[in-house]
Amino acid sequence: MSAGSAAVSPLWTPEALAQATGGVLAGAPAGAIGGVSIDTRTLRPGEVFFALRGDNSDGHAYVALAHERGAALSVVERGRTGDMPEGAPLLLVDDVLRALEAAGRAARGRTRARIIGVTGSVGKTTTKEALALALGADGPTHASAASYNNHWGVPLSLARMPQDSVYGVFELGMNHAGEIATLVDMVRPHVAIITTVEPVHIAQFDSVEGIADAKAEIFTGVTPGGAAVLNRDNRHYERLVAAARAAGIGTIIGFGEAEGAQARLTSVNLQPHMSTAMADIMGESVSFKVGLPGRHIVQNALAVLAAAKLAGADLCLAALALSALGPPPGRGVRTGLAVKGGRATVIDESYNANPASMRAALAVLGTTPPTGRGRRIAVLGDMLELGPQGEAMHRELAPAASVADLVFCAGPLMRALWEALPESRRGGWAPDAAALLPLVAERLRGGDVIMVKGSNGSRMGPLVRALIERF
Ligand code: ATP
Ligand code: MG
Repeated sequence: MSAGSAAVSPLWTPEALAQATGGVLAGAPAGAIGGVSIDTRTLRPGEVFFALRGDNSDGHAYVALAHERGAALSVVERGRTGDMPEGAPLLLVDDVLRALEAAGRAARGRTRARIIGVTGSVGKTTTKEALALALGADGPTHASAASYNNHWGVPLSLARMPQDSVYGVFELGMNHAGEIATLVDMVRPHVAIITTVEPVHIAQFDSVEGIADAKAEIFTGVTPGGAAVLNRDNRHYERLVAAARAAGIGTIIGFGEAEGAQARLTSVNLQPHMSTAMADIMGESVSFKVGLPGRHIVQNALAVLAAAKLAGADLCLAALALSALGPPPGRGVRTGLAVKGGRATVIDESYNANPASMRAALAVLGTTPPTGRGRRIAVLGDMLELGPQGEAMHRELAPAASVADLVFCAGPLMRALWEALPESRRGGWAPDAAALLPLVAERLRGGDVIMVKGSNGSRMGPLVRALIERF
């Protein structure tokens, strides 16, 4: 995403890309490059195509298609020129992923933009999107697309950053130790945010402390004189502060509700569709409205405002922009259903789930009133990758799930929650989402609010789509 910059100069010249990657231009001469792509399905004319090799596919097989679709240039391995279409402009490199990383590093190196890196167990994309709005109100801002936060997503996002950006916002993700360190070495943020530390991907770690330490790797890449923005209300706060200090970061800002937070919430009004709040951001008082519901979103907004101020943006403009925040797909999108007896609302939270985001989504369901004879309904699929504690973590959701009048559960792990629920709240259980669908569909009535959430692998997304199609 780029906002506000008129595209006067190309993103890359072929020569600049060749220099950045150490590659050699070959084939037909390439034109100016307006964008960076790794996927011919979304490639736009004038973009450079990096022929990455994935687990299941090899980008080299798509160079002809990229060329047909108007790619300005394709970046391919030196040894593979024999397979390449005639007349296609090529950049020959030793390794395409390394070349993408090099392009990302070069894009980072040539800009004077203030850079924010966002990591954390949950809320990275929400925070990144909110930052893009908040900073975009102040100057041309480039942000990673979607959840492009991994070994190809981060260099791709960097390589897409226009040189004249005033702000850059990048999401950094991980599922094992060492990953963030590699990514942040490319991003080199002025401000590093850790949204929160929770038991997510715990299966790959011995403890939540191990997760905290893996997130703390972000500090190793913060530029000299940079800052860390950390969740004061999270129980790993002190551990992260110690890690930030050890990495030589002098400015550490805690955000949250706790006394002593330098970006502190002073009042909040949680409403079904949005929240209004007041905060003290490092001595500056600000009131704001966020266009997404839930206390967790307000928490993220505190981090956003602190980072915006640290990056030199106008705090009032940043705060004003947050009202335009909307739900990314599968993270709270609401759709009306025409069911028996009137209109119901489905809240699609199917993008993913872990104990923290499950609790957050249930809390939002609690603040969303049904109408007439309607009920609050939770339709929950398994939270995956939680390791041996998984079943207990499902069972422990029972108090949070008590906001719902009826709870439907899909999957073997959700069976544990199902068994912990009082009889009166049990809507139905099924081994998977597909089998649960008819049980849910037949019980819906006018006025219901239905929140659907589960890990991506639990396939709650298709359940939501089926409900929308049916009603
Ligand atoms: P991923 O690792 O999949 O990229 P992410 O860290 O980018 O995830 P988001 O996509 O922003 O996370 O949010 C995932 C879910 O967590 C959504 O349901 C969202 O509403 C919820 N969420 C966002 N922020 C928080 C938070 N601070 N605490 C708990 N839940 C949150
Ligand atoms: Mg994300």
